[in-house]
Amino acid sequence: MAKFEYAPAPESRAIVSLRESYGLFINGEFTPGVDGHAFKTISPATEEVLAEVTEAGPADVDRAVSAARKAYEHTWSALPGRERAKYLFRIARIVQERARELAVLESLDNGKPIRESRDVDIPLVAAHFFYYAGWADKLEYAGYGPAPRPLGVAGQVIPWNFPLLMLAWKIAPALACGNTAVLKPAETTPLTALAFAEICQQADLPPGVVNILTGAGETGRALVEHPAIDKVAFTGSTEVGRQIARACAPTRKKVTLELGGKAANVVFEDAPVDQAVEGIVNGIFFNQGHVCCAGSRLLVQESVYSEVLTSLRRRLATLRLGDPLDKNTDVGAINSAAQLAKIRELSDVGEAEGAERWSPPCELPVKGFWFPPTIFTGVSQAHRIAREEIFGPVLSVLTFRTPAEAVEKANNTPYGLSAGVWTEKGSLILWMASRLRAGVVWANTFNKFDPTSPFGGYKESGYGREGGRHGLEAYLNV
Ligand code: NDP
Repeated sequence: MAKFEYAPAPESRAIVSLRESYGLFINGEFTPGVDGHAFKTISPATEEVLAEVTEAGPADVDRAVSAARKAYEHTWSALPGRERAKYLFRIARIVQERARELAVLESLDNGKPIRESRDVDIPLVAAHFFYYAGWADKLEYAGYGPAPRPLGVAGQVIPWNFPLLMLAWKIAPALACGNTAVLKPAETTPLTALAFAEICQQADLPPGVVNILTGAGETGRALVEHPAIDKVAFTGSTEVGRQIARACAPTRKKVTLELGGKAANVVFEDAPVDQAVEGIVNGIFFNQGHVCCAGSRLLVQESVYSEVLTSLRRRLATLRLGDPLDKNTDVGAINSAAQLAKIRELSDVGEAEGAERWSPPCELPVKGFWFPPTIFTGVSQAHRIAREEIFGPVLSVLTFRTPAEAVEKANNTPYGLSAGVWTEKGSLILWMASRLRAGVVWANTFNKFDPTSPFGGYKESGYGREGGRHGLEAYLNV
């Protein structure tokens, strides 16, 4: 049968009005940086410059932290929970109203398919604000004592893979609990955080409650090391997480870290193959595999190995890679040249170590940063592609014979963020879930997120939980 041809269906970017340059958002206003440094943010799909963004230096961090401290002491922590809730509900509703604009902006700056930013990221952002708005006046019933107190000023540093969603994961619980926040988005994806700053203005949030500092790693370091911060929340690489843990260890700061992962997606012989294949694809090719909980290690029971691999290869050949703003696109651009270089390097190592590499026939755009969906078979547990986080659309396939072997292989990683189990037997799901050392275990699904559900890791995947009632603990003095 001839392959179905899709006509392009691009989402219009007219809904987004980009400014030529953006200042820092401090004390409720956009302001220039003290030392005048700036950098450009580009579209990873076309390398087009989208805007110039201010790089915050130590003096700016100081200004933002002071504004947050003042707002904490004089306004926000003194407001009753029901009043804080009103602001959070208002923010959630504005996010919904501006959803299309935010989705287009996210896909432009990050390179992710519009289908994902429109249907996953932005709805979840609104859902997080709605959810934590609901907690703001009920904190005494959350199980953290009769009158839980906020911590103070939170310094929050987020990565580039889910820019606005990670912002929501950080800011919504912080504000619900009565803290104020200074947040630094990633260098390559600052634009939706700056749009969020406008939303704070639109919602009449008191000045200083939320401050957004754009910049690179040094800005992040200055923020988490600032002595007047009470709480540090970080999502990103394990390496930077270690540096932050070391820097905060001798201080009174409370820290939560959400770091890397190398999740196992375990397919048993009785699993419905077509559904499992959809789950495998969603597990590793969603968001180009730029997902800390991605199912990057596929463990297939030996008896169904060739059936699963044949279906998987057939399914991969139907994925459409290209323009992130096209509503038909399944796989968008890699977020940066640096990340593309890392994915290429680790994939070359996979081949050099003896694994077999396969990608469907796939034309890559000439401009921008692209990597085809890739599968490695013949992978052993010792291979670097089975041990290290690639953070790209690259799947390593291993096999097992018994459930005990599956558990052993799944847990054979320094990480422990997530895992997936595919089987028809409920008893096997429970047996596996109680043995897998992972913060989240998905059964017959993968990469499902919900604001009511806690998320976080074991081992080198970090500590603390975000989301759900558990996510409140990180922002309360308990
Ligand atoms: P980083 O951990 O370097 O970046 C995460 C955030 O921390 C960014 O905002 C970054 O700023 C900031 N940052 C960098 N250095 C410091 C520091 N010393 N102190 C405080 N903040 C800092 O991740 P990368 O973007 O460099 O990605 C590298 C690798 O990390 C990826 O290839 C992937 O394997 C992994 N990763 C994992 C993520 C996860 O969710 N588990 C998310 C992102 C990456 P800036 O962006 O400006 O450098």
